[in-house]
Amino acid sequence: MPTQAEMWNHLGHETVDLLIVGGGINGAGIARDAARRGLKVALVEMRDLAYGTSSRSSKMVHGGLRYLEQFAFGLVFESVSERRILLNIAPHLVRPLPYIFPVFKDGKRGLWMVSLGMWLYEALSLFRSPIRHKTLKAKALNEVEPIVDTKGMVGAPLYYDCATDDARLTLESALDAASAGAVVSTWSKVTKFEYGDDGRVRAARVLNQLTGEEKVVHAKVVINATGPWTDKVRELNPSEKSPMVMRSKGVHAVVQKEKLPVNHCIICPHPDDARGVFAVPWGDQTYIGTTDTEYGSVDGHVAATLSDIDYLLEASNAYFPDHQLSRDDVISTWAGLRPLLAPETDGLTASQVSREHKIEVGPEGIISVAGGKLTTYRKMSAEVVDVACQELEDRQGVRGFGPAKTDVVPLPGASGLSSGGLEAFLQQTQQTCGGTLEPDIVSNLVYVYGVRAARILEYIEKDTTLAQRLIEGRPEIRAQVAFAVEEEFAATVTDFLIQRTQIFYRDSDQGLSAVDDVTSIMGDLLHWDEERRSLEASRYRKDVDVSREWRLEINND
Ligand code: FAD
Repeated sequence: MPTQAEMWNHLGHETVDLLIVGGGINGAGIARDAARRGLKVALVEMRDLAYGTSSRSSKMVHGGLRYLEQFAFGLVFESVSERRILLNIAPHLVRPLPYIFPVFKDGKRGLWMVSLGMWLYEALSLFRSPIRHKTLKAKALNEVEPIVDTKGMVGAPLYYDCATDDARLTLESALDAASAGAVVSTWSKVTKFEYGDDGRVRAARVLNQLTGEEKVVHAKVVINATGPWTDKVRELNPSEKSPMVMRSKGVHAVVQKEKLPVNHCIICPHPDDARGVFAVPWGDQTYIGTTDTEYGSVDGHVAATLSDIDYLLEASNAYFPDHQLSRDDVISTWAGLRPLLAPETDGLTASQVSREHKIEVGPEGIISVAGGKLTTYRKMSAEVVDVACQELEDRQGVRGFGPAKTDVVPLPGASGLSSGGLEAFLQQTQQTCGGTLEPDIVSNLVYVYGVRAARILEYIEKDTTLAQRLIEGRPEIRAQVAFAVEEEFAATVTDFLIQRTQIFYRDSDQGLSAVDDVTSIMGDLLHWDEERRSLEASRYRKDVDVSREWRLEINND
């Protein structure tokens, strides 16, 4: 795989059929679909892949049980169908997760209503949910989930949806696009569009945010897949002014598992406003989410505030009274912006706004896609490429593209996985590495990279120092840094510590102790001078500071 710098060099060499702006899940999905159909594709992302919302979601591939209340049956049907497809094409990244939904006597929803919802949910998945639901009484709930307060509880439906690593789902979609011929250029920001005599877009000016270089990329069709930035990119055009998206901020807080040892994703109504909030088991950690508040400008950084954190802790402490959490227990946070469709009706709150998506072709010919969910990205992407192919056919006379088959072709980490699945591959890898790597390291490699873990083992064969842990007690190893640079477009220390691995969120010190080592490995591979090395390390420390800014508010509280 070319590195980020090599991809930049390829960019703009020829006129592409599609230029995709934005490397979140939608941009990556569109690039994958289009490249697999045989189109010439370039994708440009202003920072790292999944830097935006697509690394800051609740990390669920789900039908969206709560959308049944909004009668969004079409969306739920589409989501549960996509859940099944993603389980098949990316079993290393999308895994069944059990959910429990305790229902209380004085709650907004009765048990019969929730149970009916469960049946409907399963019916919409054509009864192909990972496992069928059942309702637990207090005693049974205490056995499987002892920390939940069952006072006033009338029953607790247990059902299955899926969990994912959102940033890596994005990355693997982009990697597959690149394998099919797409140019994927990160740290490349579109600053301006250029138009032909007919007023239609024909090129974009792109700024390399790492080197300051600029180039013009010519394209037959341009797609705006910039999520929360959709309107900002549309506004680069003379005539697109009315907003297509509204943004809503969602915050999550991470604590060590021993502080909140849940085994299922527990969903409960928040004591203040009855919004569903959840605690999710996440390996050695648990995260709590999420808030849903309207948010204005996308300029500047999006971060948790003290009131966001207190809101989440309040809910957790109400439902898990024997595991009271304090602000000090929070080891990290993330905040993302939902790119929701701007509502046509006034007065709707962010939670009430539809999660459907919209594809619009603007007066200058730019196709914008907005709304939707991580879960439905593959289907949405295919729809966008259909619109793009129609434009290519109608306006440029280009036709005859093959099928993309993104519903059956596995993502790279599942490519060639034997019928025994990931578990068999894990066992086999544990046996091969028995003498050299400890079991937690091997299982982390297999669950993060799928079959691509074998490539990392080749790195270690060539240089055994790469088998060392980056942080004592954590499973990530030095070889992952080299692999991220050479095979996964990582170009900065933050790319590696935040998006390629989740060290930033999971380590009790947010990876600060690994910064020098990561900088040194990346610096050697990418020939950074001393100045660049210290800049990289300090940029990462700044990202950590930003995620902890809410703590500064405590003194003024
Ligand atoms: P983004 O991921 O934001 O990607 C847009 C990209 O465009 C960014 O990376 C940005 O850097 C880039 N960009 C912007 N301007 C430019 C430019 N000028 N040039 C180049 N690049 C540019 N969905 C689910 O299915 N399950 C969930 O559990 C879930 N939970 C969520 C929880 C929260 C708190 C939030 C906020 C969302 C959640 N979602 C969930 C929704 C889902 O995350 C989003 O719908 C999805 O990630 C949006 O992806 P995107 O590609 O449209 O946008």
